[in-house]
Amino acid sequence: MIAVVGSLNLDLVVPVPQHPVPGETVLGGGIAQHPGGKGANQAVAAARLGGDVAFVGRVGEDDAAGVMLDAVREEGVDTTHITRTPDVATGRALIAVDPAGENTIIVSPGANARLGAADCEAAAGLLQKAAVTVLQQEVPDEANHAAARLAGGIVLYNPAPAVAGAVPPPHVDVLVPNRTELAALTGTPVPETIDDVVAAARKLTGAGAVIVTLGGDGVLLLEGASHLHIPAFTVRPVDTTAAGDSFCGALAVALAEGRALEQAARWACAAAAISTTRAGAQPSLARREEVDAFLAG
Ligand code: ADP
Repeated sequence: MIAVVGSLNLDLVVPVPQHPVPGETVLGGGIAQHPGGKGANQAVAAARLGGDVAFVGRVGEDDAAGVMLDAVREEGVDTTHITRTPDVATGRALIAVDPAGENTIIVSPGANARLGAADCEAAAGLLQKAAVTVLQQEVPDEANHAAARLAGGIVLYNPAPAVAGAVPPPHVDVLVPNRTELAALTGTPVPETIDDVVAAARKLTGAGAVIVTLGGDGVLLLEGASHLHIPAFTVRPVDTTAAGDSFCGALAVALAEGRALEQAARWACAAAAISTTRAGAQPSLARREEVDAFLAG
């Protein structure tokens, strides 16, 4: 079983002719509403790939809470440990997208910011028996630290989004940053070349293994003194939103099934590549049969 401890956000997406500057109002197009949040995206990614997934998180008592709970439940995610929190809104992301596809995003964490050590302690039995516990940085550090401490299996930590001042748990088994997040964790400029990535990733201590996701360049895997570059699969990407979430969800499934890290990372690259060929976050996430067919060629 896979435990995901993390955020649930209702994404509100508005197309804009151009992004407003401070003090300006622009008229946007029709609003669309989608389930999102890194925790929910990664849980759905893992569930679609055949993972048995349980979620630890918080929503409010508003309409958005129902939308989010239904969205993850419909994918087969166990929502027993998602707590409805009075007097606070469910997390939301306000996303404006211009005609070039550039977006600006404001996340209002709402109930996600109330997730704490007590929520993880209440789910201690679940975390203890999970083969993999998956964490990100859209909930307070306190919750992540407690979850990592209570986890009985592999702790997979995705330090996303790059939040200034966020502190990962003292020990995680697999740390999965992208280039920007690696720079934030190490205080170095965003690494460009593979050699730069290796040098920056070597500065990270407290992780059993590090997998740096490199977009269309694939991933760099570091374990002990050795490193390995796994190139990305060649696809025609249309929207890379949630590629990282797709990768983390898939990696969790493969590790929970007992695959070795390198094999798990390759499989996760296939799932993530498929997700870039479709629009949106959760709608783009791959199903297991698709990944198998993709790899069979
Ligand atoms: P994030 O969304 O967190 O920034 P990345 O952009 O690094 O994450 O993407 C995560 C993974 O998705 C990559 O390691 C790669 O395996 C896959 N991926 C992303 N972009 C592409 C692409 N253009 N072609 C093929 N695979 C891709």
